[in-house]
Amino acid sequence: MRLQSTGGSRETTAAAASVGPSATRELFMNLSNYRLRLPGPTPVPQRIQHALTTPMLNHRGPEFHEVMAEIQTLIKPVFGTSGDVLLFAATGTGVMEASFANVIAPGDSVLCIANGQWGELFAKMARGLGASVDVIAVPWGTAVDINEVARALQGSKYRAVLITHNESSTGVVTPLEPLGALLQETDTLLVADAVSSLGAMPVDQDAAGADIVFAASQKALMCPPGIGLVALSERARSLIEDRPSVPGHYWNFARALNSLTEYETPSTPAVAHVLGLRESLRMIHEEGLSNVFERHRRMANALRAGLTAIRLSSLPSSQVASDSLVVARVPEPVRSNELIRHLYERYRTVVAGARNRLSGKVIRIGTMGSVSEADVLTDLHFIERSLEDLGERGGLGAGVSAASAALAAES
Ligand SMILES: *Cc1c(COP(=O)(O)O)cnc(C)c1O
Repeated sequence: MRLQSTGGSRETTAAAASVGPSATRELFMNLSNYRLRLPGPTPVPQRIQHALTTPMLNHRGPEFHEVMAEIQTLIKPVFGTSGDVLLFAATGTGVMEASFANVIAPGDSVLCIANGQWGELFAKMARGLGASVDVIAVPWGTAVDINEVARALQGSKYRAVLITHNESSTGVVTPLEPLGALLQETDTLLVADAVSSLGAMPVDQDAAGADIVFAASQKALMCPPGIGLVALSERARSLIEDRPSVPGHYWNFARALNSLTEYETPSTPAVAHVLGLRESLRMIHEEGLSNVFERHRRMANALRAGLTAIRLSSLPSSQVASDSLVVARVPEPVRSNELIRHLYERYRTVVAGARNRLSGKVIRIGTMGSVSEADVLTDLHFIERSLEDLGERGGLGAGVSAASAALAAES
């Protein structure tokens, strides 16, 4: 597992920033034992890789229409909606901004629930669209208190409430249903970011009363980055279709809804990625949606149990912890950046840190997509080895053993 021909950790990192000498470049391009364990993008299973290389299709022809129709059928249960699901050639941020722009006009009031990096971005984007934005700032690592939302809604007339279903910066999941229930008798739309939960956890859009739910292909859907998805409630749909002038052209949901009646998109779709998405959805339904959710829950619980056993405690409490990623504090004196770099350089295991106020304090590991027991146990083994390498003695085997016990107890 030890890497050959590296020039030492500092040099390797420096080389990564630019185009390095050929030996280093070889190191970066040798992906044979590369372990991508990020909370997105996630590894792409071989079946999806094959689908991505299908010969190109006419995007206005019957073959493509059939692919789009199958995707509509297969994706609706994943969102938990009977409504249409729009596809854009975009990442999550693209459909996030589009979701806001299609319903928020300058001067509208918007309530943002911010319990992490993504919630904070919502507020920024909504301000950029000319909205007057109120923010409920929730301590990172926790979920919003529903009473606080109820209070904020009293006497206020919001166009929309913006929420991150699964905050990937902190590993917190916020149930949509209580928020939807609060907004049911109002004209306020519930707009939810399900980028890192769709396909890993139930979203239950219709039952929750969520109006716009957006997601992306490269997280639990196991595809490469490239497709943004947006699911619309009846209420959102009529609001969008009745709006006299929606700004923009490419991101105009009314146009996209119109094309979808013919199983097309207004401009050329990312055809290869659409084929990959269909394969992903077939795989999800073959495994069974509830089995997929159950697997995610088991993997996240086992990884958290293992990390806790070696003093990397979960940032969120177990009541609000996500099934699609684990965010854990790194015990002093180890810095998370040091652990992350070591995991990569020595064990070829790529996990995430934070690029915000949690920087240096946490590691974030994906349990989304095609993640198995072997992945989680290997993560723990390499983390234990890394801590040992970094001078934190005595933890070898404890994390693997705790995770293994958690897995056995639930199987
Ligand atoms: C990854 C992610 C995004 C952003 O998606 P990109 O595809 O990177 O643009 C947005 N929200 C959440 C919760 C995410 O996890």
